[in-house]
Amino acid sequence: MASEKSKTIHIIGAGISGLIAAQILENHGYAPTVIEATDSEGGRVKTDTVHGYNLDHGFQVLLTSYPAAQKYLNYKDLDLQYFLPGATIFKNNSISTIGDAFRNFGLLIPTILSTKVSVSDKFKILKLNRILKQKSIEDIFSEKETTTLQYLEKFGFSQKTIQNFFIPFFSGIFLETKLSTSSRMFEFVYKMFGTGYAAIPKAGIGEIPKQLKNNLSATSFLFNTKVTSVDNKTITLSNGETLESDEIIIATDPAKFITSKNSKKIAWKSCQTLYFETNKSVIKKPIIGLVANEDSLINNIFYSTSLPNTHTAKKQLLSVTVVRNHNLHESLLVKQVTKELETLCGITNVNFLKAYDIAKALPERENLSYAPFSEEIKLDNHITLAGDYLCNGSLNAAMLSGELAAKTVIENLENQTIPLE
Ligand SMILES: Cc1cc2nc3c(=O)[nH]c(=O)nc-3n(C[C@H](O)[C@H](O)[C@H](O)COP(=O)(O)OP(=O)(O)OC[C@H]3O[C@@H](n4cnc5c(N)ncnc54)[C@H](O)[C@@H]3O)c2cc1C
Repeated sequence: MASEKSKTIHIIGAGISGLIAAQILENHGYAPTVIEATDSEGGRVKTDTVHGYNLDHGFQVLLTSYPAAQKYLNYKDLDLQYFLPGATIFKNNSISTIGDAFRNFGLLIPTILSTKVSVSDKFKILKLNRILKQKSIEDIFSEKETTTLQYLEKFGFSQKTIQNFFIPFFSGIFLETKLSTSSRMFEFVYKMFGTGYAAIPKAGIGEIPKQLKNNLSATSFLFNTKVTSVDNKTITLSNGETLESDEIIIATDPAKFITSKNSKKIAWKSCQTLYFETNKSVIKKPIIGLVANEDSLINNIFYSTSLPNTHTAKKQLLSVTVVRNHNLHESLLVKQVTKELETLCGITNVNFLKAYDIAKALPERENLSYAPFSEEIKLDNHITLAGDYLCNGSLNAAMLSGELAAKTVIENLENQTIPLE
C-alpha cells in the first residue's frame, strides 16, 4: 500500500471541485499536485479588493442547506452573513417586498401588502415550500424533467407572479431568462432556500476556496501554470514542459486540452456583474432586489454593504447582475444600467467601479443530476473528470464531483472500493 500512496497525482484546476478532490486524496494519505492557470485558488469563486471594497467575481451566494457544503465547510470560520428570505421587487419605479414571514416576522406586513404577487399565489408559494421540504433530494433528481416555466405553470402560478417574482429571481440563479432550466434544479434550489439561508462570508465569497485550500497540508500548488494538453499520463504545459503522472484529475472543462471520444462538448451560460458605489441605499435590509420589467437589462441588484462586511471604503456598494443577452460594450452597458437604475429602481448618483463579464458562468445541461454519474467521469484509464459541468451548476455539485473523482482515483490505485466520506 505504501507505494500507492507515493503515486504522482495531478489535479488540473484549483476551483472548488479540484480543492475538494485534493482534500479527499489527502484524507487517504496521498499528496497530489494542483496545477492552476491563474495566480490563485477559487476558479469561478473569487473576490477582488477594489478601492476598498470586496468585489465577488459575479454575484453568488452559498445556500447553507447544501449537504456537501455542510460537510466540507466550517461556516463559523467563514463568518457567514445571512440574507433575508425574500425579495424586493422593482417594477416601473414602484417597489414592494415579499418573503417568508415564518422565518422573518418583519416580512409579514410587506408580504401581505405586496400587490406584485396575488394572494392565492402567496399561499401557493407556502404550499410549494411545504411540499419540497418533505421531498428527498433523491426523489427530486429522479423526477421526470420539464422546464422550470412549465413546472410553475402546472403548479398553478399566475403569469403575473411568474413574471414579477419567479422569472427575475430564478434568472439570477440559473443565468437564463426563459426559465428553460430543468425543473429538478428548480425543486432542488427552492428546497435549499426553504430549508436554509442564502449567505456570503463577511470578507466575500472568495473566503470559501481560501478555507478549503488552508485545510490542505500535503497538497502542492503550481499557480500561473497553464495546461495545454493531456495525453494518457502526460501533461503538457504552455511553456512546453511536460509532467508525468500516475493519475490525472481534470477539474475543469476538458475540451480545451483533450480530444477524446468520451468527452462531450459543454455549452455555457454567461452573465455580467457590475459594481457601483453610492451614497445611500434604496433597500436598507440585506435582501435581494429583483427588476421585473420584461425587457430590462438589469435582472437583480444587491447592496453588499447591507450585510456586515470587511470593506474599508465607507459608502454603499451596489452589485447589479445582467443576464439578458446584449451586444453592448462595457461603456454602453454601464450607461444603460445606470439609466435603468434610475428609471426602474429610483437609484441615482452611482459611481461605477468595475464590471465582471463571465462568459462561462454556469454549464447548460439536460438530464440534470445531483452528482456526476460514475460512468461519465472516466475519460481514460488514468484520467478522471471533476467539475460542476458534469451534473449541475452549483457549489454543491462542484464539491460532489471533486469527491467522486478522488474516490475513483483511489479505487483505481488501490484496486478496492472505498466508501464516500
Ligand atoms: C456569476 C456566477 C454566479 C454563481 N452563483 C452561484 C450561486 O449563487 N450558488 C452556487 O452554488 N453556485 C453558483 N455559481 C456556480 C459555482 O461558482 C460553480 O458551480 C463552481 O465554482 C464550479 O467549480 P469548479 O471547480 O467545477 O470549476 P471552476 O471554478 O471553473 O474551476 C476550474 C479551474 O480550472 C482552472 N483551469 C482551467 N483551464 C486550465 C488550464 N488549461 N490549466 C490549468 N488550470 C486551468 C481555472 O482557472 C479554474 O481555477 C455561480 C457561478 C458564477 C460564475
